[in-house]
Amino acid sequence: MSGQIHVISGPSGVGKSTIIEQLKERLPDLAYSISHTSRTPRFNETDGVHYNFVDKNRFKKMIDEGVFVEWAQVYNDLYGTSFTALHDQLNKGSDVLLDIDIQGAKSIKKHFPESCLIFILPPSFDILEKRLKHRSTEDDATIKVRIKDVHEELKAFERYDYLIINDDLKKAIEETISVIIACRSRTSRVLPHVRELFSLQGGDK
Ligand code: 5GP
Repeated sequence: MSGQIHVISGPSGVGKSTIIEQLKERLPDLAYSISHTSRTPRFNETDGVHYNFVDKNRFKKMIDEGVFVEWAQVYNDLYGTSFTALHDQLNKGSDVLLDIDIQGAKSIKKHFPESCLIFILPPSFDILEKRLKHRSTEDDATIKVRIKDVHEELKAFERYDYLIINDDLKKAIEETISVIIACRSRTSRVLPHVRELFSLQGGDK
């Protein structure tokens, strides 16, 4: 069976990174696509691990060279998923997890209709704002831009296949893992394999 794409989106401060860290531990066969970004690394980030950090000019050149399957401007920076990051894993039969924004998710669904889109929601705006301020990885100006964009971002949730409300981190992690496991067993994904197993022809019956 070929690999499947799982997309996780959600506003900054919603707890996505913590959930993803847990997914990496609990679902070790899930590959993770490392995006490129023009953003400067945070103090706790490593090039090639959290992102491939490139400057804006290099990023724009890569867009022209057709490196990205999807890319988007998020807040004031550019972010993109390279064809290589995705295809290498999918061709090996691995499922790939993408942590990308709502624009990226839309493009991925268009290219790969079988992809599974998961959106992580905060329990409320107030709680999200508090979490964002508390995490102190961004300066005040950046936090303001991000809070402003949250309202727009949240409107996109209806396009997603699954919604997880992170009001309790443990529960949100369990729900996300369950969704990924369920997506792996979708009939449309497993059908070709089952037909092969039982020597069945494709058809309506
Ligand atoms: P951060 O700067 O907090 O790491 O990420 C900001 C936003 O960019 C997050 O919503 C994240 O999901 C999104 N993002 C990260 N990588 C990509 C990517 O390759 N493509 C797109 N479209 N969004 C991305």
